[in-house]
Amino acid sequence: MTRQITAADLERAISGHQIEPAFQPLIRLDEDTTVGYEVLARWTDPVFGPVSPIDFIAIAEEHSLIGKLTRQIIAKACQHATSLDRNATLAFNLSPVQLRNATLFNDVSGAIAKAGVPFERVVIEITESALIDDESLALATIRKFKQAGFGIALDDFGTGFSSLTRLHSFPFDKLKIDASFVRTMETDPGSRKIVAAVVGLGQSLGMSVVAEGVETAAQLFILKRLGCDIGQGYLLGRPMPAAQLVDHSLYPPGKMPSRRGVISPLIKLHQLETIYQGAPIALAFLDTAGRYVSANDRYARVIGEERTCLIGQSAADAFAEGRRAVVARIARRILAGRPVIEREVVNRRTNRSYVLSCSRIVDDGGDVLGLSISLIDVTRRKLAEAALRADEEHFRLAIEVSPNVAWAARTTGEVYYMSPALSGGAHVAVEDRISNWYERMHAEDRVRVRQEWLATISDGTSFQTEFRILWSDDRWRWVRSEAVLAPGADGKAHRWFGVMTDITARRALEEQVDRLQNRVGNSADEILQLFRL
Ligand code: C2E
Ligand code: CA
Ligand code: CA
Repeated sequence: MTRQITAADLERAISGHQIEPAFQPLIRLDEDTTVGYEVLARWTDPVFGPVSPIDFIAIAEEHSLIGKLTRQIIAKACQHATSLDRNATLAFNLSPVQLRNATLFNDVSGAIAKAGVPFERVVIEITESALIDDESLALATIRKFKQAGFGIALDDFGTGFSSLTRLHSFPFDKLKIDASFVRTMETDPGSRKIVAAVVGLGQSLGMSVVAEGVETAAQLFILKRLGCDIGQGYLLGRPMPAAQLVDHSLYPPGKMPSRRGVISPLIKLHQLETIYQGAPIALAFLDTAGRYVSANDRYARVIGEERTCLIGQSAADAFAEGRRAVVARIARRILAGRPVIEREVVNRRTNRSYVLSCSRIVDDGGDVLGLSISLIDVTRRKLAEAALRADEEHFRLAIEVSPNVAWAARTTGEVYYMSPALSGGAHVAVEDRISNWYERMHAEDRVRVRQEWLATISDGTSFQTEFRILWSDDRWRWVRSEAVLAPGADGKAHRWFGVMTDITARRALEEQVDRLQNRVGNSADEILQLFRL
């Protein structure tokens, strides 16, 4: 380009129909579908080559050519509307200067009506600067469009000086977040926060939010996570001439991570709020300086403070003065990225036990926001454990003082427990009680008992035998050993649980009876009768 283009060049281009509409897809991010197109003016001059709309729109505005140009763009774009999806919207840009023109509504709606496109399919994009000069006139014009059924989008949001009052009082359907925020979103946490806030703002006001200038997959991912409704940008589709508008109902086909199932920040906020308050655990959130930002009622009860008083307080204050520095150091370490801590703590005031867990909270961009604290009340579990331990202790003592020998074996036949009666007391280790019990058995009984035992464990469910064994007092005793196959402590694997009972006295009696019987030839019953007399 050797010289600047002039108004005369532009006028020639308009008269010669050299300015054409380009269509850039608008993608609904939760479904990855094209819901409409923004129409952008394109001028490729035979001499100058492509001229940026930034330049020629400014000239058109200055030289009162913008009305004619707009009508031409609208007329041409509408010709193609019939070949698009019946529901796809077309968004046209109107210059701020045009809003001062009293005939704007008639000009624009006339051109669209002539092309036979329903007004409901058309969105008018205006920038904030259009509203600043003459608010009441702009508002009146915008209302006319709105009442006729057009959609109204506020373009380049965030770059002008739109007041929140204006945002509320103008009938906008869409907020278009300016590309400058989207572009820096990955690197600048400030931009990301602005985008998040605008998405929330738009949704609270019932407007759908469009993110402009989406160029990277990372930006798209963040926007989807934030619940942004619509995306526009080179990643999702460049502005293209009508001839290239093939079917863009899904773009790019099947390639984008879907946001299906992701809910809007507003719903998410309420849901989280409900979970936060209703959770059966005590929850609190601390800022990076260790002050309470939020806490649920349960947490406040555990700490013994009003929830409202807690907010803003330093969490370390709850500790004795000497412990505060330690607590602060632990908090700093977790903020610096130490793994989550989890430990059991006892509240001295209430004597209740909790599992404390503390982790840092990081946003999408890696910024540390603060610490999350949760306390799970485990007092009942602790009490139950203590009761169980007491029960176990009771049984253990009962077994240890018993004159009988309790034993247990695996299904392979290997004995793994034996109570102390046989070996002379609880001070003898279980391993020693087990290791020498077989040697204590009378040599004449060993082989038989072993055979009986092996036969039982191969297919039996109960065991019973009698043998002689050298007792802890170094005297021979007769014992009866009985066992049953039962589930083990885990309720699943089977174990043999048995008990050896001293039957020496009974055996002696029986032997005596035998002897007497042999001598006098009486029946056993008669002799026993004699003994009782
Ligand atoms: P705009 O209304 O904000 O339009 C979006 C601009 O961003 C377009 O530039 C578009 O091509 C560009 N864009 C879209 N996606 C991306 C992306 O991912 N990366 C980058 N870097 N850019 C992207 P374009 O077509 O050059 O238009 C510039 C401006 O000129 C428009 O900004 C709009 O204000 C104005 N304009 C364009 N056509 C018309 C028109 O027919 N009438 C009026 N009044 N203004 C128009
Ligand atoms: Ca625009
Ligand atoms: Ca824009």
